[in-house]
Amino acid sequence: MPGSVMIADMSWTDYQRRIEQDFPVVLLPIGSLEQHGPHSPLGSDEILTRLIANAVAVSVDGLVAPSISYGCRSQPRTGGGWHFSGTTSIEGRTLMLLVRDILQEFGRHGVRKIAVLDTHFENEWFVIEGIEEALKEMRRDEVDGMKIVKFRYFEFITPGTLGRVFPDGFPGWALEHAGVMTTSLHLYLTPELVDMSKAPLHGVIEYPPYDVFPFDPNAGTRSGSLNSPVSASAESGKLIFDEVVAALTAAIQSEFGNRNKD
Ligand code: MN
Repeated sequence: MPGSVMIADMSWTDYQRRIEQDFPVVLLPIGSLEQHGPHSPLGSDEILTRLIANAVAVSVDGLVAPSISYGCRSQPRTGGGWHFSGTTSIEGRTLMLLVRDILQEFGRHGVRKIAVLDTHFENEWFVIEGIEEALKEMRRDEVDGMKIVKFRYFEFITPGTLGRVFPDGFPGWALEHAGVMTTSLHLYLTPELVDMSKAPLHGVIEYPPYDVFPFDPNAGTRSGSLNSPVSASAESGKLIFDEVVAALTAAIQSEFGNRNKD
C-alpha cells in the first residue's frame, strides 16, 4: 500500500529504499493474547500498542514492524493469571529469542534506529534480555551504530491526566489490567471491540504482596479485571492517546534525531 507506515504492506524494494535513503526509526509493538475482562478484547495489549505505534510512526516518518502478538505467562497480580480461556502465553525464553532474532534481522537490513513498544507487564525482562542479546550478536557481526530504545506508553501519562481519568485516585499500573485506562483507550480507538454492559462492577482485587506457585485460580479475580472499568470513557481515551502519542514522538525525536543520516 503506497504511503503506509506498515513494513508488512511494503514491497522489499520500497522498504530497502526507505531504510537506505531515509534511515527511519522502526517501531516494534509487543503485546499479548490475554484475557482483558469480559468487556474488552483478548488482543488488548497488542491492539493498543500497535495503534499508538502507527500514530507515532506517522509523526516521526517512521515504520511499524508486525507486532509480537503473544506475551509471557500472565500473572495473577498483573494480568489476572494464566488460567483464563483465551490467554495464550509463551515462555520467557521464546519471547527473548523472538525479540533477539527480529532485531538482528533489522540490523542486517541497515536499520539503526529501533523503538520497542512493549505493553504486557510480564514481558519486560525478557524483552530487555532479547535487546541485549541482539546487541551482543550485532557487535560480533560488526553492525555499527545500532540504537534501541524501549518504551512502555503508559509511563508517559502525566499526573495531571491521571487526576482527570481517575478522580477517585489512581490505583497503580499493575491494577489497571482491563481497567479504566485500557478500556478508555478502546472506547476511543476501537469502540466496536468493547461491550460496557459486560464491564465488571467489583472494586480493586486485593492480593497479598507476594506470589504463590502453583497459583490457585480461585484466589484471584474471577472477572479478569483487577479493577472496575465502569468509569472509562472515550473522552479519557482521547486524552491519554493524544498525550502518549505526542510524548513518544518527542522522546523518539530526542533520542534519534537525524542519527546516521549524514
Ligand atoms: Mn498484559
